Amino acid sequence: MPNDAENSPWTKPVTEALRAGPDTRVADIDTDATPGFEGDKELGTRLLEERGTYLSQLQEKLFANGRSGDRRSVLLILQGMDTAGKGGMVRHVIGHVDPQGVDHASFGVPTPEELRHHYLWRINKALPRAGQIGVFDRSHYEDVLVVRVHDLVPERVWSARYDEINQFEREIVDNGTTIVKVAMFISLDEQKKRLAERLERPDKYWKYNPSDVSERALWPAYQEAYQAMLDKTNTEHAPWYVIPANRKWYSRVAVGELMIDALERFRLDWPAAMFDVEVEKKRLALS
Ligand code: ADP
Repeated sequence: MPNDAENSPWTKPVTEALRAGPDTRVADIDTDATPGFEGDKELGTRLLEERGTYLSQLQEKLFANGRSGDRRSVLLILQGMDTAGKGGMVRHVIGHVDPQGVDHASFGVPTPEELRHHYLWRINKALPRAGQIGVFDRSHYEDVLVVRVHDLVPERVWSARYDEINQFEREIVDNGTTIVKVAMFISLDEQKKRLAERLERPDKYWKYNPSDVSERALWPAYQEAYQAMLDKTNTEHAPWYVIPANRKWYSRVAVGELMIDALERFRLDWPAAMFDVEVEKKRLALS
């Protein structure tokens, strides 16, 4: 259901509470915080269920309009260190909507074929179709994050990518896609806890990757790369939202609200019938 402003635990619009600004310092983010939200885990979890139902109603309207010629779509871009909760975000937030309406893509180490192309080639192919919610689990931002941290291409190559990405996103937005960019931040300690849990539970071994531990040594370099990403690609047409993600319930309810906000801005209505309803009723009655 739509928000009941009086009883809402949100003290300010989530877009305001989480929007990255010129003063955002990655090193200073309080990863335990719950910006703009006055309530505990129980309330947050309950609210996510309610708002998930509303998100699903909005998505159905987007889908219906897409089937009727509307070109618009929403693209959720999820970035964050290993264990930040990107997969859980897809399950617990996007999981509320009809899977038919979701174009999901995840981006790992590029395949040999992908490496033969420009880095935006695989991204371009995965953009959401009209009427869809697109979700990117990692994205073209890996090409200025892991690629920068590991010197996978020379600096002059990755440093030109920020402007190129801004331009690329400008075109996507001009084609009718609202981009919701979410950077999820956990602390180094929280990551250790989450990795330890993966080693304790046989049902989580599949998520454990020994290289995640080596990456921990590069944490400061990643922080620097995330800082540069926020500084250089936080545009008006595709702003970044900074999500403290130590509390999973908070990051999920917050991103759910960002998606609702993006869809509400479309002011969607049900598409009008493309046939004469009265005529069809009569035809049906006589059939
Ligand atoms: P996850 O760890 O998210 O479950 P995968 O193991 O399939 O997913 O792949 C993620 C890994 O791929 C990450 O270590 C990420 O840094 C790496 N990766 C993603 N894009 C690139 C890229 N363009 N170049 C190099 N490595 C990349």
